[in-house]
Amino acid sequence: MVLSRFTNKIKENFPIFKNQPKLVYLDNASTTQTPRVALDAMNFYYEQRRANIHRGVYQLSALATELYEESRQIVAKWLNASDAEVVFTSGTTHGLNLLAYSLGKDLKPGDNVVLTRMEHHANLVPWVEMSKRYGFEVKYIELTADGRLLTVSLPIDKSTKIVSFCHISNTLGTINPVAELVTLAKKVDAMIIIDAAQSVAHLPVDVKALDCDFLIFSGHKMYGPTGIGILYGKKARLEKLEPFFFGGDMIREVRYDGATWNDVPWKFEGGTPNIAGAIGLAAAVRWLTEIGLEAIKVHEQELRDLTIRQLDDLADVTIVGPRVQAGPIISFVVKDIHPHDVAQILDSHNIAVRAGHHCAMPLMNYLGLDGTVRISFGVYNSKEDIDTMIEGLKDIITRFSRKRSGIRPD
Ligand code: PMP
Repeated sequence: MVLSRFTNKIKENFPIFKNQPKLVYLDNASTTQTPRVALDAMNFYYEQRRANIHRGVYQLSALATELYEESRQIVAKWLNASDAEVVFTSGTTHGLNLLAYSLGKDLKPGDNVVLTRMEHHANLVPWVEMSKRYGFEVKYIELTADGRLLTVSLPIDKSTKIVSFCHISNTLGTINPVAELVTLAKKVDAMIIIDAAQSVAHLPVDVKALDCDFLIFSGHKMYGPTGIGILYGKKARLEKLEPFFFGGDMIREVRYDGATWNDVPWKFEGGTPNIAGAIGLAAAVRWLTEIGLEAIKVHEQELRDLTIRQLDDLADVTIVGPRVQAGPIISFVVKDIHPHDVAQILDSHNIAVRAGHHCAMPLMNYLGLDGTVRISFGVYNSKEDIDTMIEGLKDIITRFSRKRSGIRPD
């Protein structure tokens, strides 16, 4: 393993693992833990640079503004974007709503927006709500039995204005074929939106290479703080896009009967932003860059392969999702045991996993499931974490089968 000999060293960067030494944390798709460097960067702002940004004429405000804008530059460089193309939001849900509101209102009956059957509610509900307002249609890319996109019959046509999809499914782990979708979308002049909430911390993301119009993610799923996220947009697209929030920094000039907007990216940053969050996010980006996303990808892929092999040995476990072309997320069901029971008993072994519909209720209905158990890896996870989880799972299966056959549990 590329990183395995460093995982203990990596863990030392995270105060949570010192404070919760028994914790086996396998819910990274929900939120990752925060490294000391990101906490320190936020504290530095609060303890030494705290002031509002872009407003004060005094020194402290200028220094805070510098930190905030420097954070934007760090994120932009990381994504291979320009500073003007990086908008701070409160997270993926905010970014996707902004796009659905601002792009949706220009669509009309006869137009369509193409999503996939595996979208998180945040990339589904806003489009469906806007379609009810403006009369456009929402179409869905179907899935294969193992949870990949059925690319042989894509519903992208001349009336498609937007194709919006997750880079990695938060439920199935599927890595979607971006290049194929982008090529098709471009043929019909449709805009491409990528929900990268589950990918930016797990594989290298270069917006120029992906050639998308917009890309969205949250800080808290990539070792940054909660309440901060990024909306990347090609500059020309952002310049055309109508703002969604009004007030504060997004304004150039206001009259009693109207207003004009600031330049991009500030046009989309109305109100006092999450200044410390932006600074913490940039610190997380620096930290991720130092470790290297290629190395992280390989490490997490090895953990994934190892886990799949061990899950395959358990007769009662069925994996839900693809075996190849998948990120560090594994969903599964255990025969005759509800996912919530599995997660609750694992919790009693100090193992944190997610159970339920994973904010993808339509997908669960599509798959005919009540829910799944989901484990998701981060850079600090190790082979030992997997062994502990598998032991816990074996224990659950034994206990339930004893119960079913009327044998009293030990
Ligand atoms: N999209 C995907 C693919 C996600 O995994 C999530 C979070 N689970 C979201 C959107 C929403 O992210 P947030 O709650 O940070 O806004």
